[in-house]
Amino acid sequence: MYLNSLIESDRRHLIHPVSAYRAHEARGATVLASAQGMYVTDQSGHELLDAFAGLWCVNVGYGQESIVSAAAEQMRRLPYATGYFSFASEPTIRLAERLADLSPEGLTRVYFTLGGSDAVDSAIRFIVHYFNATGRPAKKQMIALDKGYHGSSSTGAGLTGLPAFHRQFDLPRAWQHHIPAPYAYRSEVGADDAALIAQSVAQLRAKVEELGAENVAAFFAEPVQGSAGVLVPPRGWLKAMRDTCRELDILFVADEVITGFGRTGPLFACESEGVSPDLMTMAKGLTAGYAPMGAVLMSEAIYAGIADGPDNHLPIGHGFTYSGHPVSAAVGLEVLSLYLEGGILANGQERGGQLQAGLAGLLDHPLVGNVRSAGMLAGIELVCDKAAKTRFAGEIDISGKLSAAAYARGLIFRAFADGTIGLAPALSCSEADMGHLLERLR
Ligand code: PLP
Repeated sequence: MYLNSLIESDRRHLIHPVSAYRAHEARGATVLASAQGMYVTDQSGHELLDAFAGLWCVNVGYGQESIVSAAAEQMRRLPYATGYFSFASEPTIRLAERLADLSPEGLTRVYFTLGGSDAVDSAIRFIVHYFNATGRPAKKQMIALDKGYHGSSSTGAGLTGLPAFHRQFDLPRAWQHHIPAPYAYRSEVGADDAALIAQSVAQLRAKVEELGAENVAAFFAEPVQGSAGVLVPPRGWLKAMRDTCRELDILFVADEVITGFGRTGPLFACESEGVSPDLMTMAKGLTAGYAPMGAVLMSEAIYAGIADGPDNHLPIGHGFTYSGHPVSAAVGLEVLSLYLEGGILANGQERGGQLQAGLAGLLDHPLVGNVRSAGMLAGIELVCDKAAKTRFAGEIDISGKLSAAAYARGLIFRAFADGTIGLAPALSCSEADMGHLLERLR
């Protein structure tokens, strides 16, 4: 009875992110009530193995008491401190220091946000400011990848290359441009890694040439395109794109909102190719979903360009009330210590191997067209005809059917509209739970 009234209130009042509103009302919410380890329980008592870490974020699993204590202690001592007017708080300073220390070389300055979308927005604003302050105001054009996801704020959504995020949202975005995603399974160059890398490099060069390098500010890319359906570029792609940006005199921004914090193996995906971006955005795994927080890191050169600009006695007009929130920062510090000192990062690396071996065993399944993975991040592209790589027709609600089938078997994964299944289990997953996950998935 109580559950029914909750679902009814949800229908009447709560607007859900990224959903078809009327279809959601008709279906009704699955109200999640509690969680422990890898499992969440809904209000009807149904237990589900969460193979998606919430929304690619609860990398340390649910129920980590040390994080709860860190948050409670910080709330008790100092629940809020602004970063405006030269104020600061200890956890925020310590977290900035730790991130500068742990992130790819050269990223020395940290600006905290509330999540990934405003980290991308902040990066865009800082880049515009940097080029204005350093005397190259024409550099305003930005390039990203088709199918890329960079959030759904008014500014950053433009860099998102997924059509659903632009349908009925046709704000002007003439300064945003896209090049094709490196999508081996559906590319004419197929599994030829070198050819795929060369193709992306040529596409970036052609786009910069078309726009004029003097007008192009930056290229944004996810090291693995998560919301595209987990598109994993070949090894060497990231470095080649980074080097090309340097050569073309444009900034390279790595959007590590999903790939950061051990999701693909190393702490940051850029590390696996020794890449140092000019700016890096992060969120999700930074606080593992226990509190909202994101960040944009930048090189000393970009920071200095802004800080020493012509109007440098005036405030830089970019800030949020909750930038560097001390409770989120205290959570972030504890989450980092669980990854590193607590062994969760190392456990994730081991479990990633188990996940990949398990997924390889799915390739004989009649519906599995392609399996892509990097560490604890995977995409399984389902097709109705393997030889022709035919996707399920649009009139079948394949993602709805997949989600319902998963729920019935006690599993949560991401079911994309094109019939791809996304997996991003917590890095704290045990060997036994990974076994259960793979069984239920099959
Ligand atoms: N960038 C990437 C790569 C993401 O995957 C996401 C979210 O999934 C975002 C940005 C936006 O982050 P948020 O949802 O925290 O605003």
